[in-house]
Amino acid sequence: MRRLLIAGNWKMNCGPYDAAELLEGLIEKKSEIDENVDVLVCPPFVSIGMAVKYLYDTDIQVGAQNLHFEENGAYTGEISGSMLAESGCNYVIVGHSERRQYFGETDKTVNKRVHKALEHKLAPIVCVGESLEQRKSDKHFGLVKNQITAALHEVSEKDILDVVIAYEPIWAIGTGETASPEQAQEMHEHIRSVLTELYDEDSAEQINILYGGSMKPGNANELLGQKDVDGGLIGGASLDAESFSEIITIAEDLA
Ligand code: PEP
Repeated sequence: MRRLLIAGNWKMNCGPYDAAELLEGLIEKKSEIDENVDVLVCPPFVSIGMAVKYLYDTDIQVGAQNLHFEENGAYTGEISGSMLAESGCNYVIVGHSERRQYFGETDKTVNKRVHKALEHKLAPIVCVGESLEQRKSDKHFGLVKNQITAALHEVSEKDILDVVIAYEPIWAIGTGETASPEQAQEMHEHIRSVLTELYDEDSAEQINILYGGSMKPGNANELLGQKDVDGGLIGGASLDAESFSEIITIAEDLA
């Protein structure tokens, strides 16, 4: 019942011209692939307009990498949810570990951003995940539970169905290391049980839980083949049209 979602997080890469080139390649390759998988690209803010323009007659969706939790006003350098919605975004990444690590994002601000995203009909992709140290000291399950509980504070039973969770072990992001399929499945199952506790089993079964952390064509099949892995949030490999579309094809074959 859950459709796989393959989402590209371009991070701070691809201004409008590079975005156009990457999207041209992706559109060409994607046109040969069936449509049983949802596909999303999340370019940097300045390339969102270009992405929306290029993708308007395709089924590839556009998302942002962050949003501010206020509506508008004196927040120099920030972008609001209404601006993203107006620009054509359907999704927004919230609480990526790089934002938590380098930009002071906390569970509390993640929660505020989740609410703001939902208010503007942007599906928040809420990122959670542990450091290597936390995993080694066996704190990963508790930590992820706390991150999810805090991020979803006061999210209604209706709105939760629009939320996507991305499990991204920090030690696997951009490092070439991936969680093993077993480690991914184990954590995704845990996340679904946390969602069942917070909401109910029926809702938890409908929520997409993505895996992120050095997913590439060589490991996508095993990771995406896990029962509770409902797609991927893909950094590095989404910057190459060939690799990204290979992952989409792998997902299609599993769908
Ligand atoms: C990410 O940034 O969300 C990510 C998973 O990056 P990478 O695929 O490069 O590890």
